[in-house]
Amino acid sequence: MAESAHSIAMFHHHCGSAARQMTDRDALADQTRQSLKDARPLLWIRPAAAAGADACRWTLEDVRQADERFQRFAPLLAMLFPELAPVRGTIESPLLRANGMQAALRWPADMGKLWIKADHDLPVAGSIKARGGLHEVLEYAEALALREGLLRPGQDYRVLAEPRARDCFASHRIAVGSTGNLGLAIGVIASALGFGAAVHMSADAKEWKKARLRARGVTVVEHAGDYEKAVAAGRAEMRDDPHGYFVDDERSPSLFLGYAAAALHLRGQLLAAGIVVDAAHPLFVYLPCGVGGAPAGIAFGLKESFGPHVHCFFAEPTRSPCFLVRMMAGSGQLPDAPAAPSVYDVGLDNLTEADGLAVPRASELAAAVMETRLDGVYTVADDRLFADLARLHDSEGLRIEPSAAAGFSGPEHLFASAAGQEYLRARGLAPAMAGATHLAWTTGGRFVPPEEFDRFLSRGKSSAAYT
Ligand SMILES: *Cc1c(COP(=O)(O)O)cnc(C)c1O
Repeated sequence: MAESAHSIAMFHHHCGSAARQMTDRDALADQTRQSLKDARPLLWIRPAAAAGADACRWTLEDVRQADERFQRFAPLLAMLFPELAPVRGTIESPLLRANGMQAALRWPADMGKLWIKADHDLPVAGSIKARGGLHEVLEYAEALALREGLLRPGQDYRVLAEPRARDCFASHRIAVGSTGNLGLAIGVIASALGFGAAVHMSADAKEWKKARLRARGVTVVEHAGDYEKAVAAGRAEMRDDPHGYFVDDERSPSLFLGYAAAALHLRGQLLAAGIVVDAAHPLFVYLPCGVGGAPAGIAFGLKESFGPHVHCFFAEPTRSPCFLVRMMAGSGQLPDAPAAPSVYDVGLDNLTEADGLAVPRASELAAAVMETRLDGVYTVADDRLFADLARLHDSEGLRIEPSAAAGFSGPEHLFASAAGQEYLRARGLAPAMAGATHLAWTTGGRFVPPEEFDRFLSRGKSSAAYT
């Protein structure tokens, strides 16, 4: 294996004594806590939730409505973005078989097949933010246009490109706080529709993302602090502006449902590819996680669509695992942590080259939905992200950003760690692994400048995790 998942001493569960299993579980939890604090890669499995109310207020019907909103806007999007003309305004990405990458990762035999959901190639935004970010701005624009009498229900939305609508949009401003990609998505769609746009960027944000926005006339405000500070600044700027709208990455239902709509399209893609999802053919999905909105939205949509046969794992940097910290605290496994803990609370520094994932505290909205749905979280060291980025380039010719590589080490955790093997054993999944589909969600990269990508590639090839 290219780099074995963090090796935890193997536990044996054949003895069958409940007391013994309890001890094993406690020992595993101790090791997980230690690895978390030491910023070493680990896999954490969510313990079965105590019976309680499900905090989620959405159903598949809400997800369908988000999908229908994208469809209503498609003719307008095809008009505003030349790159969308050939696909008639559809914001979607391919599902790719990754035979070469699977070979490069040197999986054990009979563990199933690796596929990629290529959101790194999403048009307009070049990242998964094209789903949530576009959806929220479209929802806002739609509501505003209906309210102002610029649009009638059922009308062709291309009317929103006419001067009357654009003049109205121009008197409204949209703001957002971001580590880069959400700002890019919001700034691009807002300015294309004619809105004023302000993007508050955290210190992690890459220069080229800021330059790309400024070239479109978007106001970019740079902050010396982290993601939370950038979000707070954006929120404060919009608070007293009656014509201002703040896209709140930490709390937004509209972002969440825009991401969730991906599940509906993926369902059709799996069908078209002849991929069955059932008890004998489990689907494992590996989702890079920042604040948690994108992976939680997608996991929610997938769980609603596929029930118990889909297994969703979030992937986070070893030094920035905010969702893991939040889920462990919620399960009582970090007794000293506050209710909404940050990675700083466990002594981590939130420093990672995976700018899309550099978030210190999880979204409470995403955490509440995932508390009863998430299967697990694993962490990845930056070196491994770069190594997988390089491997993916060499084996499949794909160009992704470091954050988007976090999905590729997930399967190894399941195959090789004690926590992963216990997960498969406890659910009777071991015999089904030969028929499994492993889906790594590549979340960004399309617009990374070539010089920047070359630097990623050389860092990957010189990393110890690349062999
Ligand atoms: C934003 C982002 C994610 C994660 O989305 P969150 O909603 O922040 O969890 C993953 N990968 C990339 C490249 C991103 O930009």
